Amino acid sequence: MNLMVFGAPGAGKGTQAKFLVQKYNIPQISTGDMLRSAIAQKTDMGLEAKKYMDAGELVPDETIIGIIKDRLEEDDCKNGFILDGFPRTITQAKALDELMKSSGKKLDFVLSFDVPDELIIQRIAGRRVCPKCGASYHVEFNPPKTQDICDACGSKLIIRKDDNADTVKNRLLNYHSQTSPLIDFYKDMGVFVRIDGSQELNKVTKDMFEYLL
Ligand code: ADP
Ligand code: AMP
Repeated sequence: MNLMVFGAPGAGKGTQAKFLVQKYNIPQISTGDMLRSAIAQKTDMGLEAKKYMDAGELVPDETIIGIIKDRLEEDDCKNGFILDGFPRTITQAKALDELMKSSGKKLDFVLSFDVPDELIIQRIAGRRVCPKCGASYHVEFNPPKTQDICDACGSKLIIRKDDNADTVKNRLLNYHSQTSPLIDFYKDMGVFVRIDGSQELNKVTKDMFEYLL
């Protein structure tokens, strides 16, 4: 199964993708996590991408398309994958379409989590993430069992550098101008599924699986 989780930054894509990974045993391919890992390793690409990420801007299409192309060719993707945070522009969506066609694959569902901006701001303000496994928590809505410690791998949770009020405004602006046009793109392709992502976490998961199963 080839899936995509879609929505504004902070809509809950990564949170729900973890449940899909468990259920289908296919990898979550998060371009945000890949870029953060490149930054941690201080690669040239990572250091270049960091400037955009810290400002809440999108990293240029050529960079992102390049890393996705290499990643989708890896062995663990042959039975399916979950795209998370990619594509974010029409150019990226068209490039993905070409990549899928040339490898004889098709996208099964685009699971779109619809969340109003006011709620996005609250979610991002309280987000805590695991720098090791990428798990995402919220101080109020989804706290870890032990404060500031990842339930999944025991690492100390951090606040993402780009999860600050100014950057979030810019990320939302970019979402509405550059990413939301993909909704019509995937509706036209017949793979778009709208899920009410404003509901409490378990209800969102339930709606997602009701659709898939
Ligand atoms: P994204 O991957 O779309 O950027 P995350 O999965 O990291 O978003 O979720 C953003 C924040 O919102 C996190 O703090 C997460 O714990 C929290 N969250 C996710 N889904 C819900 C939900 N349905 N209700 C409340 N909080 C949620
Ligand atoms: P995320 O972890 O998905 O919230 O992404 C964090 C940041 O990484 C974004 O604000 C962008 O700067 C960058 N990024 C991640 N994915 C993409 C993408 N598909 N296209 C452009 N920039 C991206």
